[in-house]
Amino acid sequence: MHLLYDASRHAIITRAALAAVPAASIVWTAYRLRALTVSGAWAALLTGCAMFAFGSLWLSAALLLFFVGGSATGRLGTPQAVQARSRAAKGSCRDAGQVAANGGVAVLCGAVAALQAYHLSGASLRWTAAALGALAAACGDTLSTELGAALGRNPRDVLTLRPVVAGTSGGVTLAGLLAACGGGALVGLAGILAPGNASAAHWVLGGACAGLGGSLADSLLGASLQARWRCSICGELIETPHHDACQAAAAPQSGLTWLTNDGVNAAATAAGAAIGFLLFRT
Ligand SMILES: [Zn+2]
Repeated sequence: MHLLYDASRHAIITRAALAAVPAASIVWTAYRLRALTVSGAWAALLTGCAMFAFGSLWLSAALLLFFVGGSATGRLGTPQAVQARSRAAKGSCRDAGQVAANGGVAVLCGAVAALQAYHLSGASLRWTAAALGALAAACGDTLSTELGAALGRNPRDVLTLRPVVAGTSGGVTLAGLLAACGGGALVGLAGILAPGNASAAHWVLGGACAGLGGSLADSLLGASLQARWRCSICGELIETPHHDACQAAAAPQSGLTWLTNDGVNAAATAAGAAIGFLLFRT
């Protein structure tokens, strides 16, 4: 038990090494199930080891809950979800950019919490909550995209509230928003393993807030600043400069060309981290 909550350099390196084998077996399974590309598998292995090294059980449990929740809903395969995914930047097979966009902020916040614990002999609850908030936002956003596409009816643009085509960036549905709260709450559960004296209800509610906030941030950026291209063959609005379905190039249509789906996801996890940081004071 001492090793799990120790913030010394020796304990952090030992935990990174201990995490390697279980993380590699989970990543290998995900790769075989085509939930990860080769680059995504390496990034996920690094992320998993870094999270156990810095955030011990609580951050690893949060990552696992996110992974299980996201993979389970990603396999729903309803026609609506498949249609929405073909319009989105990438499929349900995640590459290194997507892994970094979903997990990078959580690793950074976990590292700050570990550094604080090392220097101040006690991890700050706020940075612990920020790390969990980032993962709660990633999970909330993933579940709201998948379940919103599968179960949501009448998606509307988050800014104008006008009806939009299912799967459009910035489109929200009631089912999607509820799924965002649920995904965030699921990850928040891991907080009961974290050091400090916050109650389980605090963690679950905080996770739900971060999940909802992250998903809304994702939708707002998706509706306003995210880059969109129009396919030169079928004319569909898409999130990449190349439409795989048509094997054709697409022309810039709106938004900032450098703000891709990965950038928007990273910003959404940063919003979740900020919510976690602000909700827990000590
Ligand atoms: Zn096309």
